[in-house]
Amino acid sequence: MMVRNKRVLYIVLLAILTVVMAGCGSTASSKAKMVQGKVNVVTSFYPLYEFTRNIGGEYVNAINLVPAGVEPHDWSPKSRDIKNMTQAQVFVYQGAGFEGWVQDFLGSLSADSTLKVVEASKGADLIKTTENKEEYDPHAWLSPLNAVKMANNIKMALIEADPAHKDVFEQNYTEYAAKLTDLDARYKKEIALTSKKEIAVSHHAFAYLCRDYGLTQMSIMGLSPDAEPTAQDLKKMNEFLKEHGLKYIFFEELVSDKLAKTLAKDAKVDTMVLNPIEGLTDEQMKAGKDYISIMDENLKNLVIALQ
Ligand SMILES: [Zn+2]
Repeated sequence: MMVRNKRVLYIVLLAILTVVMAGCGSTASSKAKMVQGKVNVVTSFYPLYEFTRNIGGEYVNAINLVPAGVEPHDWSPKSRDIKNMTQAQVFVYQGAGFEGWVQDFLGSLSADSTLKVVEASKGADLIKTTENKEEYDPHAWLSPLNAVKMANNIKMALIEADPAHKDVFEQNYTEYAAKLTDLDARYKKEIALTSKKEIAVSHHAFAYLCRDYGLTQMSIMGLSPDAEPTAQDLKKMNEFLKEHGLKYIFFEELVSDKLAKTLAKDAKVDTMVLNPIEGLTDEQMKAGKDYISIMDENLKNLVIALQ
């Protein structure tokens, strides 16, 4: 019993370390600048940046607030970011409670501000959290069909900001939405064939993916990846792995994998990446990876884990 308690204590200590490490990255800010003659769009985090670039094409200068390699849940804007947001023509944020700092920023805008503000998740099919019925799970971008709705909200704002290029934005949107719909079809087809329907994850980010494709997630942490798990959470995870005969615990690149690896070792299972696409690393950006290619990598790993 003593040994068991020590191990739980060790795991909890690791979780605290994860919180500290996640906090370190949050001082970074985007170095990007405004471009004359284009619609300058500031986005709060990676998926919105990616959707904006695909729809805006050459007529839009997209600036992403959270830099590469930084986890966005605990990020907040610095003075340079606020300057970028107030100078831009369009500001896109996720909403559904994802960016805790947004209401303060919007409240600080002057009455004559012409900034077009887009809440990307508006009109998306949102999931309420079980902990609090008034709150939503913000991770709506992990449903490709919700991503189509988010992309549509961005398209509408771009047309408003630059009506002369309406046809281009409509065309780009139609093409990108078709890619997202194809992605959804690949998920439906491949996950329908798997024998298992449960996933063990470090961060509770996959409710939309689970809803769309008939899966159930059990997470070590909460809706934010730095929420500290209790000994009870860890015990539940262990039982979940055993009950469903799972062979993998999924972790993500932007948060320390120590806790997932420790738990996996304890339960005698392996770890694999399931990326919640809250941000890309520098290496992923340089390698030309994007929302769709990472969603396809996720699908490949899911199919392996669900056999
Ligand atoms: Zn998250």
